[in-house]
Amino acid sequence: MLGYALKQNKVDEKGVQNGLKSIVPHAYGDHSSCGNWCGYLKNPASYKHRGLPHGKDLMNKSLRQSLEKIIEIPLFYHALLLKPSIVIIGLQYLKTGNDAEILEIAATDGKDEFSYYIKPCNVISPEASAVNKLTFQRGILFYDGKPITDAIAMDVALKTFTEWLKSRMPCILVAHNCKSFDARFLVQAAEKNGVM
Ligand SMILES: [Zn+2]
Repeated sequence: MLGYALKQNKVDEKGVQNGLKSIVPHAYGDHSSCGNWCGYLKNPASYKHRGLPHGKDLMNKSLRQSLEKIIEIPLFYHALLLKPSIVIIGLQYLKTGNDAEILEIAATDGKDEFSYYIKPCNVISPEASAVNKLTFQRGILFYDGKPITDAIAMDVALKTFTEWLKSRMPCILVAHNCKSFDARFLVQAAEKNGVM
């Protein structure tokens, strides 16, 4: 049933959601929201559920509740059906707070790693240095006192990172404090540098 509904609606997100929503009622014998994938609507007299025990409608009410809960998250489900790469990102900052500036973009999809240091435009605060061991002197970025010779400009780093992500699409980005922090500054930086 699920495969069928998805095949019918391969690129139509709304269709997939509606398809998913009608699957549970369909299994319970309510075909009012079924689409043209529904065998019952085609032939009510002889229809049997191929994927269900004895081909009969489901009866168990608590099972239905659980099933409906699962189907309620169609977007997440849909995203997973696209077999996304899970990319874990980690950012280091020049200082914390609202005007934080990204100093390092690191990411991994479990196979490959992406890691670039970014030449800052401003001074690194002592508080941030204490945490990330990064300092910036005379135009050179240092990690733990050692110069980082391959640090690049922010716009180049973002473009390279975007390309790296594109080759892994679709992907879900996972990060610590992602929504409130990393995601915000990544989007901000991308907008500022015209990458988005
Ligand atoms: Zn049906």
